[in-house]
Amino acid sequence: MTEATPNVDMEKLVSLCRRRGFVFPSSEIYGGLSSSWDYGPLGVELKRNIKEAWWRAVIRERDDMVGLDTSILMNRKVWEASGHLERMVDPLVECKNCHQRWRADELGEPKCPSCGGDLTEERMFNVMFKTFAGPVEEEASVVYLRPETAQGIFVNFQNVLNTTRKRLPFGIAQIGKSFRNEITTGNFIFRSREFEQMEIEYFIKPGTDEEWFEYWLKERLQWYVTHGIKREHLDTYEHPEEKLAHYAKRCCDVIYKFPMGWAELEGIANRGDYDLKQHTAVSGKSLEYYDAATNEHFIPYVIEPSAGVDRSALAFLADAYTEEPDKDELRVLLRFHPDIAPLKVAVLPLSRKENLAAYARDVYADLRREWRVEFDDTQSIGRRYRRQDEIGTPFCVTVDFQSLEDNRVTIRERDTMNQIRVPISELKTTLSAKLGGEDLFVLPPGGEIWKVEKEADSA
Ligand code: ATP
Repeated sequence: MTEATPNVDMEKLVSLCRRRGFVFPSSEIYGGLSSSWDYGPLGVELKRNIKEAWWRAVIRERDDMVGLDTSILMNRKVWEASGHLERMVDPLVECKNCHQRWRADELGEPKCPSCGGDLTEERMFNVMFKTFAGPVEEEASVVYLRPETAQGIFVNFQNVLNTTRKRLPFGIAQIGKSFRNEITTGNFIFRSREFEQMEIEYFIKPGTDEEWFEYWLKERLQWYVTHGIKREHLDTYEHPEEKLAHYAKRCCDVIYKFPMGWAELEGIANRGDYDLKQHTAVSGKSLEYYDAATNEHFIPYVIEPSAGVDRSALAFLADAYTEEPDKDELRVLLRFHPDIAPLKVAVLPLSRKENLAAYARDVYADLRREWRVEFDDTQSIGRRYRRQDEIGTPFCVTVDFQSLEDNRVTIRERDTMNQIRVPISELKTTLSAKLGGEDLFVLPPGGEIWKVEKEADSA
């Protein structure tokens, strides 16, 4: 799993993210905090779009799924029952010379990777963050920051069943922060101690688990492709049976060709009836399902597709990154799928002259009711186009002096740089169609091809 994506190296991506306001190091003015990141004005839009696209695909467009938003702090019995207190552990070793700490199972040789020093014996380290609820720091008030969102779903299984009257098979999905005190972090937003997950627990009849596992694996792979990730940059990795997590019957990762090499983007696990059984045993509350058709009571099995928002953001950024020669220069662009792009449209008046600026502002005010749109009247038009290319805005709308006469504006497409000119009355519907994937040269009434830079490609 080492060959890296040819698109972009990590350094370039980190630098673009910082320069353009996607991601900043956390608490930077104080020297930062190792592996903590803040999402800037464009990063926050990118993340929202990823979460929205996921929510739309797994909840809005289906009738067998509902959403949930559970708390990060939970009764600690939850973690006793789920096995996390005992088993959410990584083998930790420390260098006797420089005192750096490492995950033993990630080291090739039993020497410190930093200074070559000898290492201590392995000890198991629980990666859950521990804190106290309330003002007294005593054992009885210990709580944990959740290391996954899944358990919030399991403990609400009966609540959801009772309130929604869903029948098997059905799923519960949630998006939220999780925390793991990882021994080693790194690779930018790939692995941090605080991150966001998008998790589905899909409840099914025991015995149908293999077929639902295949279904969700296919479905989740396709979601990334539909939203612009190149199929050849995605693959799957089946976990060998002896390395499965304590709750899993089977686990297969969707892996992505990240700048540092192939690595997990999302995990699909067959958790069997492990979690509901454990919570039944520890809480004493029945989490059984009653099947009226067969008059049976049983504990459902569950298939869990668990994705990371931050890892997805990194994959979408890496996959979108493109450099291409443009006259004597290099054009950098992020070829985001329109649903994922932080900004959908930029409105650019050709000049700051008052009558033109007012006209362009009206166009902007109208478009921003529909989409996240930016107005930019600084610098030359060429530089403004480059800036929008580099942050992945699919379309620029340019307002020029002729617009004042003929009530038409140009639409420039990011990937081809081709332009069409359309009546202002057709602008919204045209942009809507183009953002939905329609070819630029399909023209609305009164529209015309304005500039052909290159043939559209399918990439
Ligand atoms: P890894 O093997 O990389 O540590 P994992 O197998 O422990 O990951 P899961 O428990 O399957 O991860 O979590 C599901 C998803 O949550 C992962 O596929 C990933 O996208 C995301 N995730 C897990 N840990 C982190 C982290 N420390 N930083 C960012 N995202 C994470």
